[in-house]
Amino acid sequence: MKILVINAGSSSLKYQLLDMTSKDDLASGIVERIGEDMGTMTYKTDGKEVFEKPFPTHKEAMVEVINILTDADKGVVKDKAEIAAIGHRVVHGGETFTEPAEVDAKVIEGIKANIPLAPLHNPGNLTGIETAMELFPGVRQVAVFDTAFHQTMEPKVFTYGIPYEMYEKFGIRRYGFHGTSHKFVARETAKLLGKPLEECNIVTVHLGNGGSLAAVKNGKCYDTSMGMTPLAGIIMGTRCGDIDPAIVGVLAEKLGTDVAGVEKVLTNDSGLKGICGSNDLRDIHARIEEGDKQAELALDMACHKVRQFIGSYCFELGKVDCIVFTAGIGENDPEYRARTLSGLESFGISVNNDKNWNWDRTPSFISDDDSAVKVAIIATNEELEIANDTVAVLGL
Ligand code: ADP
Repeated sequence: MKILVINAGSSSLKYQLLDMTSKDDLASGIVERIGEDMGTMTYKTDGKEVFEKPFPTHKEAMVEVINILTDADKGVVKDKAEIAAIGHRVVHGGETFTEPAEVDAKVIEGIKANIPLAPLHNPGNLTGIETAMELFPGVRQVAVFDTAFHQTMEPKVFTYGIPYEMYEKFGIRRYGFHGTSHKFVARETAKLLGKPLEECNIVTVHLGNGGSLAAVKNGKCYDTSMGMTPLAGIIMGTRCGDIDPAIVGVLAEKLGTDVAGVEKVLTNDSGLKGICGSNDLRDIHARIEEGDKQAELALDMACHKVRQFIGSYCFELGKVDCIVFTAGIGENDPEYRARTLSGLESFGISVNNDKNWNWDRTPSFISDDDSAVKVAIIATNEELEIANDTVAVLGL
């Protein structure tokens, strides 16, 4: 059975075709700069292929994806009818969606209703769904929400200390993101622990260009570091994470800009990039080697914040079975992991130096055998999780 996973942004369309028996990635790629004079298609066949042409709308982009998937020479399917179902990543499900949902008119209305909470993301996601419905008539589609896994948080955890009617009127509360990854990694961690997920307390640490943590209690999300938007929480590649909210007003005044202008600074020019000019840990490490103090400060700040969150989540959970790292930095940066969890032996957290630095890329523990709290690395796979959800929701 083949499932197509679509992640549509406002000007991009990412796709992956998965075989659900082998769980193999059969084909994947991304169309970028949709709607601009010239767009780019990057996709994988034997190697990586790139070409440019204009993609006026998502429809032309998706037609190109279908052409590549069904290409007589290099395609992986003979006919698009071989695609059993389509799973879509949707960023914001608000309080409407606590689980993935098969797309119908009501689900489309629900995604629309949550546009005010994610004005930059949900419209693109919706365009992806509507285009797929048009080009794959009769193929069932499922929406998988980044926020859904976090909907088990209790009011004391998700409510902000602002007038309560702001929540009632505008839905302002903590929602959390990366839920698909946190859910996938938590479930894989439970397998590694050899216990049912419902009996596991886990701190999931997703560190990519964006990043977030989740405290998973008895298999369900109890707390998470992102907020109403993905700007909150830890210090990320270009996003500031948690800051004093009064800074927004101060910056608007000092920079002579409006709130949207400040938000742009906090989203695109802050985080690691704002501190040292680079948001890629590979560059940051290279610069630290050369004695760059600003790069050192950026790394120190980022690890400090992640450590703070892990500490508070350990207290919130009371008892923790495992702390698990995932995503670009979590999987590839032993130095970051080591700094984040150093010197915590008295709290029962003991990272094994050798295992941390020589992780073999299989889901495994990197803690000492006698560490009361296990530490693991598990590569995330959000596309596979969306495909799994699609199969489960449709009962295929
Ligand atoms: P996204 O949030 O875009 O999905 P990823 O999970 O792909 O991000 O993570 C991308 C980040 O991972 C890069 O910005 C870089 O900082 C980090 N990264 C990737 N490879 C390495 C590596 N070998 N060592 C350290 N950091 C890495």
